[in-house]
Amino acid sequence: MQTLQEQLNVIKEKVQKCTNCSLCKNRTKIVFSDGCETAPIMFIGEAPGKNEDETGIPFIGRAGQLLRKYMFECGFEANDFYIANTVKCRPPENRKPTKEEKSACFDFLNSQIELINPKYIILVGATALESFILDRKLSITKARGQIFEIGNRKFIPIFHPSYLLRYFNEYEGSPRDLFRKDLLMIKSLIKEV
Ligand code: SF4
Repeated sequence: MQTLQEQLNVIKEKVQKCTNCSLCKNRTKIVFSDGCETAPIMFIGEAPGKNEDETGIPFIGRAGQLLRKYMFECGFEANDFYIANTVKCRPPENRKPTKEEKSACFDFLNSQIELINPKYIILVGATALESFILDRKLSITKARGQIFEIGNRKFIPIFHPSYLLRYFNEYEGSPRDLFRKDLLMIKSLIKEV
């Protein structure tokens, strides 16, 4: 029987050869995942950017570094989380992935979710939110910090850290303050797991 790592590697090898959508044309590297395969939470972001495309590691550009900074300030440890994106290849000029591109890539993401089997899935930003919670009226501003139970999964949307790059202050109720509060809430939930 294959180990969890071997099963994930099988999916990763398929992603490396994937031409299911046009994003394969310009990719330098696929961006499969980072973090711990047995983590209780899985972060799902939007799409790789320039730094991610060059290195193959999700959330390492400016926005990703900000997310990681807040996570570690909120007490997250390396084995608390696994990170992936709605698509594995970089959209040109950092545009949002289209519905069709997300759909073409969804089976890979879903296979990762099934194997990691996280207690909570953290939807990082509106694009990830829209991929899993199909309520068009639900904005990330309204949804953030809430727990949504769909099927046998629990989802918690949070702001995308690129949104926080526009706001430097952290006064009560500011995007950065709310982001920190959401991460602290998530950290407290995984302590209970
Ligand atoms: Fe394949 Fe996903 Fe890359 Fe599109 S984004 S080419 S579906 S791996």
